[in-house]
Amino acid sequence: ENRKTTWTEACVDTECFMLGLKKRNTGQKLFHQAVREFIESVMPFVQQNPQYQKAQILERMTEPDRIVIFRVTWEDDAGNVRVNRAWRVQFNNSIGPYKGGLRFHPNVNLGELKFLGFEQTFKNSLTGLPMGGAKGGANFNPKGKSDREVMRFCQSLMIELHRHIGEDTDIPAGDIGVGAREISYLFGQYKRLQNRFVGVLTGKGLAFGGSLVRTEATGYGCVYFCENMLNHSGDSIKGKTCAVSGSGNVAIYAAEKAHELGGKVITLSDSAGFIHDPAGIDAEKLAFIKDLKEVRRGRIAEYEEKYKEANFYAGQRPWGVPCDVAFPCATQNELNVDEAKTLIGNGVKAVSEGANMPTELAGVHAFLDARVLFGPAKAANAGGVAVSGLEQSQNAVRMSWGRDEVDSRLKTIMREIHDKCVSNGDADGYTNYVRGANLAGFKKVADAMLAYGVV
Ligand code: GLU
Repeated sequence: ENRKTTWTEACVDTECFMLGLKKRNTGQKLFHQAVREFIESVMPFVQQNPQYQKAQILERMTEPDRIVIFRVTWEDDAGNVRVNRAWRVQFNNSIGPYKGGLRFHPNVNLGELKFLGFEQTFKNSLTGLPMGGAKGGANFNPKGKSDREVMRFCQSLMIELHRHIGEDTDIPAGDIGVGAREISYLFGQYKRLQNRFVGVLTGKGLAFGGSLVRTEATGYGCVYFCENMLNHSGDSIKGKTCAVSGSGNVAIYAAEKAHELGGKVITLSDSAGFIHDPAGIDAEKLAFIKDLKEVRRGRIAEYEEKYKEANFYAGQRPWGVPCDVAFPCATQNELNVDEAKTLIGNGVKAVSEGANMPTELAGVHAFLDARVLFGPAKAANAGGVAVSGLEQSQNAVRMSWGRDEVDSRLKTIMREIHDKCVSNGDADGYTNYVRGANLAGFKKVADAMLAYGVV
């Protein structure tokens, strides 16, 4: 009962009520879930330190600094005029300029972007780099759109977004539905509108200021974090069976690194279902998946046709497959409490979250109660934004570092995040990485806010 030693459900309920999470419960479920998990971790510390309470620090931290909402009008290939809504949530810039990705998905809404901006604030704090938290995106569905439609959409979006961002104010990047192609269109349009060549976006192409290892960084970082957790308890990924969900940028590079470190990756998925390859997904199979997803933008079901040893399970998620390590790398709330219990029953040793908040709160509690090594997203997937920070540094000094240099900095950052979680989350011989990550992330942001006084 490690989790329950310092707080009670009732106290957390009261705090969440005070923060207005119940009163204003309209379309903000994801945001409230993220805040609740955070409050569970930090509230005892806030209660013990009256300066935070006096400054209403939780009230202030849970309200974004600014939200920009705007219309994006564009023309599809058939000549129809199309309208979408876009947002930029500038959540907190206490420790650096706003920083965080853009998400393009038909269901994107303000509550989702608030949750992501909130998470980003503490994730960025954990990296040790000077980055505030933000998130943005649009309810645009890139699936089935031609390159030229995506180009026109990105250009149109930037016509408004450019006035709200800048290399020292707010630096967007990619997220679900926004990859190298979209960042390139967005960057080209920013440069055109502002006539300035600066590091205003990260995840750029290598030819125009991008960083080596940025593409791989979230997935690699998630596996480095997991390896750190396992090493800390005298174990390692070598020889472990690994279940990975998703088949985007995070999942692919998590699978690649897990395989490189001697793990056996047996699953990947997309919104249509998952593939189970009991023989393991090796480098050659991963090359096929990279081409399938990154070049041809196809579906993971194709894997079954190519590799006869594998099976595709339509409409299902991979969590029923017995594994030692789970890497949820698809999307929020993709792993529920029943699936968490199944994984625990099957003897899972570690869970390292590559997506943002992929585990439902009751699932998080189940993992902690079972003393599974559980790396929460804001720690485990911080590698992506960390290398974004390194891309900004390289842009600022007009240099590009080599692959080994960036990768070794990424490794160091992930180890430092791990160690911060241990020093803030260790109790009774078990590290509660959720509490550790939330507390360590909180302290830096809170102390900066206190130092600035009340405005
Ligand atoms: N979207 C990524 C995340 O969730 C990366 C953000 C960035 O690089 O700014 O952390």
